[in-house]
Amino acid sequence: MSSQTSDQLFARALQLIPGGVNSPVRAFRSVGGSPFFVKAARGATLITADDRELIDFVCTWGPAIHGHNHPRIKAAIATALESGTSFGTPNPYEVEMAELITRLVPSIQKVRMTSSGTEATMSAVRLARGFTRRDKIIKFSGCYHGHSDSLLIKAGSGALTHGHPDSAGIPASFARETIVLPFNNAAALAAAFTAHPDQIAGVILEPYIGNVGFIPADPGYLAAVRQLCTQHGALLIFDEVMTGFRLALGGVQQLEGITPDLTTLGKIIGGGLPVGAFGGRADIMDHLAPLGPVYQAGTLSGNPLALSAGIASLRLLEELNPYARLDALGQQVREAVLSAAKAKGIPVQVPQRGSMFSVFFTATPIRDYDSALTSDAALFGRFFRACLDGGVYLPPSAYEAYFLSTAHEGAAIDRACDVISAALRSL
Ligand SMILES: *Cc1c(COP(=O)(O)O)cnc(C)c1O
Repeated sequence: MSSQTSDQLFARALQLIPGGVNSPVRAFRSVGGSPFFVKAARGATLITADDRELIDFVCTWGPAIHGHNHPRIKAAIATALESGTSFGTPNPYEVEMAELITRLVPSIQKVRMTSSGTEATMSAVRLARGFTRRDKIIKFSGCYHGHSDSLLIKAGSGALTHGHPDSAGIPASFARETIVLPFNNAAALAAAFTAHPDQIAGVILEPYIGNVGFIPADPGYLAAVRQLCTQHGALLIFDEVMTGFRLALGGVQQLEGITPDLTTLGKIIGGGLPVGAFGGRADIMDHLAPLGPVYQAGTLSGNPLALSAGIASLRLLEELNPYARLDALGQQVREAVLSAAKAKGIPVQVPQRGSMFSVFFTATPIRDYDSALTSDAALFGRFFRACLDGGVYLPPSAYEAYFLSTAHEGAAIDRACDVISAALRSL
């Protein structure tokens, strides 16, 4: 391996990889400067190519709930590796994973594995259309469901950060089949159902948004969405790629007591390797090939190495049930931010549940995309850089959720809170 600095590596990457990154969220264009390269990660810490140690609040964008390079996950991958990397046939890990997911997320009666969250949401939408024989999909502004054509409309995450919430390259005729509504607004959803009778195949949402910064649902909102979908014969799809196993073993659907028809998963269920999944009611899932007419496939779906990591990650969660501990960490950071911002007279909103939260620089309470966009992105950029100078890595965007892991407990969280407080005082 090379011992080049981040700047040297990035100069080479810029010549060969568009923007120097393989996913736009890793770019620093919205916060200034250029991204650092990481050569190793353990626990709560990233070690950069420049030998800096950073406390990581990105956690590989969600998967690393146990911290980086957890020994149990490493050992599971090593064991699987002994037997081979891919077979192209069914393998035992797939059954074990399906049993785990269906047991922990009771709305999922049958499940199919994919290699990314994007494939999971894309496939769930196709399945909803094939099952209902309807074409239109409802999504909510600021929700990000991966980068497939139907869903990359008023999208959050990197699409928003870099100024293209409606990506170029999506035919207007495709986009017309996707209706975009404001989140946390049941009246808008009711009106859309009335305006498009018998045309809505499904409603897809992040039950708590993590991709325009973190925005939980208002009390009662998800129950209203569930009721409207049932009333109008549309499938309710919870995209829990980010929230699944992050806030509770059973996801936001467990916390809120809602039963969606379909659920998409990813991130944590791969334990740091590329995995996604979608599942739900058995009668709907049985519309998938080879049983039914909705086609969906994947050469590396259910890959033994990837599933060994994911299974180890889920088993650890079951064993430790760390959610109360993680919530205490989230609250500690939230209180540190609120008190430092108050002392400095900077208006902030810090929506937080468990180990997910965001800092919005605005006096406006955050309920949806429009309120999230009132956040002062330039001020966020200065906050981001001050934290990074102090040794804490936040997501390089004003519109992303921050993640904590069990490895942040103890010295790391105390130090991170000091750095963040000092960063706020320096603004
Ligand atoms: C990350 C994410 C996706 C896409 O998953 P990939 O593995 O990046 O394709 C979909 N939905 C949500 C809610 C996500 O956070």
